[in-house]
Amino acid sequence: MTDNLPKVRGIYKFNELLNRYTWLNVGGPADVMFLPADEADLRDFLRQKNPKESIFVLGGGSNLLVRDGGMAGVVVKLASDDFAKWHIDGNILYCGAGRLNFSLKKIVAENGLGGLEFLCSIPGTLGGAVRGNAGCFGSEVANVLQTARVMDSAGDVFEVTNADLGFGYRHSAFPADWIVLEAGLRFEKADATETARIIAQNDEYRRTHQPQGIKTAGSTFKNPEGMAAWRLIKEAGGDTLVFGGAKLSAQHCNFLHNEGTSAADIEKLCTAVQKAVREKCGVELEPEVQTVGRE
Ligand SMILES: Cc1cc2nc3c(=O)[nH]c(=O)nc-3n(C[C@H](O)[C@H](O)[C@H](O)COP(=O)(O)OP(=O)(O)OC[C@H]3O[C@@H](n4cnc5c(N)ncnc54)[C@H](O)[C@@H]3O)c2cc1C
Repeated sequence: MTDNLPKVRGIYKFNELLNRYTWLNVGGPADVMFLPADEADLRDFLRQKNPKESIFVLGGGSNLLVRDGGMAGVVVKLASDDFAKWHIDGNILYCGAGRLNFSLKKIVAENGLGGLEFLCSIPGTLGGAVRGNAGCFGSEVANVLQTARVMDSAGDVFEVTNADLGFGYRHSAFPADWIVLEAGLRFEKADATETARIIAQNDEYRRTHQPQGIKTAGSTFKNPEGMAAWRLIKEAGGDTLVFGGAKLSAQHCNFLHNEGTSAADIEKLCTAVQKAVREKCGVELEPEVQTVGRE
């Protein structure tokens, strides 16, 4: 397949280990990783590539369990500056999907972009946050997203609105082959000092209430309606399960803690936790972390 790849201006990497790109620090090689130079390069690549070849967009890797066998096809990473551009028009911040949410802190604080503070504390990229309707501190992407510019697998670019995306709890109805290029996020003009204070307060909350410095992917399971996943896990004894170096965090038992193990062990742990909660509490936990790749 590597012989038939279109000529691009960006970079191809072959057999690139994905554990370097995931917060859980697991994941075998991608057959091909493509880092487009810009939007036009991505479009030309999609138009010329073998249509049978699958595409997977990797954001910040903060919500992914990539299996040890790695990924077939082409993993696309929007890493160039072209995918991190931003500008403000009226009460909308337009921002490239490849931008890391953490790097929005300065933009949101200095410009007093009220209502976008929550986003700045979520690991990963804006594209990943849009796709999964990421949220925290009482808000989520669905509350602020006005429009998104997307590219489909044919390389065609179009704009969609919030209503088109079928947002739900940590969910969007995004077709699998759409790549988010840019999001338009609505804000309310606020005092810059106050915006900076909220961002710092959110960061402080995470520092004091969530595990720090561990290999994790954040919340492993979604909270079932009216219930906290961590409470169910504790009640079922899931917090004591260990597979190799895979366990749940002692500080927050809905957070995975990879102490140096394989994706296979982490997957076994997740399955065992689901089974324990099913048997003890009669509740089916739905994964929040997305598992992808070859076994
Ligand atoms: C310590 C920690 C804390 C966390 N806290 C929170 C939290 O408070 N709230 C919360 O919601 N989540 C949280 N998460 C989970 C994670 O940060 C979010 O789900 C995040 O939005 C994932 O973005 P990403 O760029 O890392 O996406 P990835 O993990 O790289 O990918 C996730 C999915 O998004 C898709 N995707 C990525 N970019 C694009 C794009 N441009 N176009 C189309 N699809 C794309 C991928 O194909 C994949 O399907 C946390 C994770 C960690 C590690």
